[in-house]
Amino acid sequence: MRPARIARVVDALVHHHLDALVVTSLPNIRYLTGFSGSSAILVVTARELVLLTDFRYETQVQEEVGDLTRIRIDGVSLWSALWNELTILPRMTVLGFESPHLTHRDFERFLAEDEGSRWQWRPTTGVIEALRATKDPGEVALIEEAAGVATRALHATLPQIRVGMTELEIAGILEHALRDAGSESFPFESIVASGPRAALPHARAGRRTVEAGDFLLLDFGAVVGGYCSDITRTVVVGRADADQREIYNIVRIANEQASVGLFEGITGKAADAIARDYITAAGFGGDFGHSLGHGIGLEVHEAPRLAKTADVVLPPDTVVTVEPGIYRAGWGGVRIEDDVYLSAAGPRLLTDFTHDLLELPA
Ligand code: ZN
Ligand code: ZN
Repeated sequence: MRPARIARVVDALVHHHLDALVVTSLPNIRYLTGFSGSSAILVVTARELVLLTDFRYETQVQEEVGDLTRIRIDGVSLWSALWNELTILPRMTVLGFESPHLTHRDFERFLAEDEGSRWQWRPTTGVIEALRATKDPGEVALIEEAAGVATRALHATLPQIRVGMTELEIAGILEHALRDAGSESFPFESIVASGPRAALPHARAGRRTVEAGDFLLLDFGAVVGGYCSDITRTVVVGRADADQREIYNIVRIANEQASVGLFEGITGKAADAIARDYITAAGFGGDFGHSLGHGIGLEVHEAPRLAKTADVVLPPDTVVTVEPGIYRAGWGGVRIEDDVYLSAAGPRLLTDFTHDLLELPA
């Protein structure tokens, strides 16, 4: 699949009128070359890809990177390797750099090194990210595997949860189960939020002790082959009351309507509205204070966005999350999040886990 990616990035160079693109985002470098190390710069030209890294990765880079990429290991620094390469590459005038992934200090190195103004530096945003929004079958398979790891970990975790445990203890059980199920790492800090803390959409696990009748919101993911999954389920520890059931059912229906209502070419804004209009009609529009979802892949948050302000359309073969929620300060909150693969055949759920309101034995 990598030759197809390289062909697309070369098209993008032409489209953006660049002789080369200096790539400093590590996920973008991994996407184009396969290299997963933590120190690299990639130079993309119409003729070749040159990957610069340091001696710590000498073995790994040979194993991970195919012969479509020329590897250069510099004993001094990545930057000195970059200047050396740029000087010898033919016909380099207009050079793009990734402005979201370059510090101001490093940009100043560009200017300082380029005394004779040999190069015209052009800031770019989202050139490779736009390509990454469309997944190839191998990428979808890895995200689906990561989703399977996450749901297996959840199945292993829920029966162990008891009243009196802290959120941190539950996060420990969950993260152990994720490792056991095959997760390479954690795509983000697992959220375990109980009782009123479930009203904080980005709560971290804390020292609060779970009480009978609490909502317990778990938002976490797994990583397989570098690809992330991201899932949220909200359960009740003990018996759910009528208010909890009512709010839960509204979020559940919003999630299901949005998941089946997505299609290639819908704008992020229209996708967001499917769930938001339903929640608003039910009277809780003011309590759904975040976007419906986001793209997922090598990074847990990537293009496209499903949000009120997103005019861009969802591209073909994309994978996004659908995660409506209702949050009421002092009371608690519910979020139900799934990962959805969107192809010409329609939407397909990658996270296979019930939407029924689970009541765990207290
Ligand atoms: Zn999540
Ligand atoms: Zn998410």
